[in-house]
Amino acid sequence: MAFPIATGASEDSRYWFHDVKGKYSVKDGYKLDIGFYKPPTHSSVVQSKKWWKFLWSMSVPSKVRIFWWRALSNIIPTQANLMAHHVPVSVSCQFCHHHMDSTCHALFWCPVSKRSWKDSVFMTTLKLLHYSDLIEIFLRMKDVLLKIDFETFVMRTWAVWHARTRLLHDRSLKSDRLDVDGVDQRRLEVGAAVNEATDNYSIGGTVRDHEGHILIAFGRKISKPLSVVHGELVAIREGLRVIQEQDFNIHEITTDSLLAVQAVTNPAEDFSYIGAIALDINRLLLGQHKITLRHIRRSENVVAHKLASFALSSQSPFVWGHENFPFWLVDLVMNDLTIS
Ligand SMILES: [Zn+2]
Repeated sequence: MAFPIATGASEDSRYWFHDVKGKYSVKDGYKLDIGFYKPPTHSSVVQSKKWWKFLWSMSVPSKVRIFWWRALSNIIPTQANLMAHHVPVSVSCQFCHHHMDSTCHALFWCPVSKRSWKDSVFMTTLKLLHYSDLIEIFLRMKDVLLKIDFETFVMRTWAVWHARTRLLHDRSLKSDRLDVDGVDQRRLEVGAAVNEATDNYSIGGTVRDHEGHILIAFGRKISKPLSVVHGELVAIREGLRVIQEQDFNIHEITTDSLLAVQAVTNPAEDFSYIGAIALDINRLLLGQHKITLRHIRRSENVVAHKLASFALSSQSPFVWGHENFPFWLVDLVMNDLTIS
């Protein structure tokens, strides 16, 4: 297989082809992944492949097609591909550290990625292709899946790679940020849900970083609240407990209940059960540096509500990190990112 890199260079030179000095950084990998660089034009060498024509005829966003073109050409920046391009890196996966970071490992088999496929309709076929290369997987999936399902598969593969690359990127950012000023602009968002038929109540929420990326997601059932506002206040209180347990600092809490915001802001004026829980929340806030409580529209609080709804049917409380987000949450986050 030929690659669009400089030819005629001395044998042992290390060269990353998206940087003028040939140096690779995670940032470059990230920029490559989000389509910052124009697609290479050396397509003639792979044009004879069976997948080529089909890939470009698919009705998926062009960034997804370009990603697949790169993945099928083995030029996405996995550790193994970088190594093959003489970039001085370790070949082992930076997430699980147990396997070689090949294209298929990164997209399907790494525990971090596999969770996105586990509960999907694709898993049965994928399992049979464990020892296949990406071209075989691509062609096999194309043959066995309906067109619409195949396009979902293609999109999700892109989403997995995107999430993975961003996770690496975030990790390097995080350490930079701590070195620079130690300030984390994190936001806690909460919501509540009810199933009147079963008389079940729950809360859910996330902690997001300053760019809106979700760091943790949580949810749990609660006992029956006395009113809607009461339920929203319980959601805030539970959210604060989760961030305490997880040792997260936040600077803001968002809820779509204006009454809950007012109750917490003026707790002394209210001696009802609402006032009591508002006082509780203020006590929890005391130990923290300044945290503001902000009202947002319901339409901006979709993820928190989805998590609360999920908690309604969940056996036990959950707190998920990046590594164990279920696929529907990854999809939801991807929608967020694609829109923004
Ligand atoms: Zn891995």
